Amino acid sequence: MNGSPDQNTGEGIAEFVLPQGCMLCGGAVNIRKTPGGGAHSYCPHCHWLSRPRLRMRADGLELSFATEVFA
Ligand SMILES: [Zn+2]
Repeated sequence: MNGSPDQNTGEGIAEFVLPQGCMLCGGAVNIRKTPGGGAHSYCPHCHWLSRPRLRMRADGLELSFATEVFA
């Protein structure tokens, strides 16, 4: 385990785990922030992919999953 290209530092938290964040199986979801205020979420348990909205709050981050998307 050396020379990993995934180690980025200096931009704050860009990737974290949301416990019980999966709407399908209730498992832990990996959240990765993307430029522009969006985010990608991925559940390694049921392979659920989503694009939640991230909101910055005084007491932390708020994630809102869109259950219905009308483009
Ligand atoms: Zn899941």
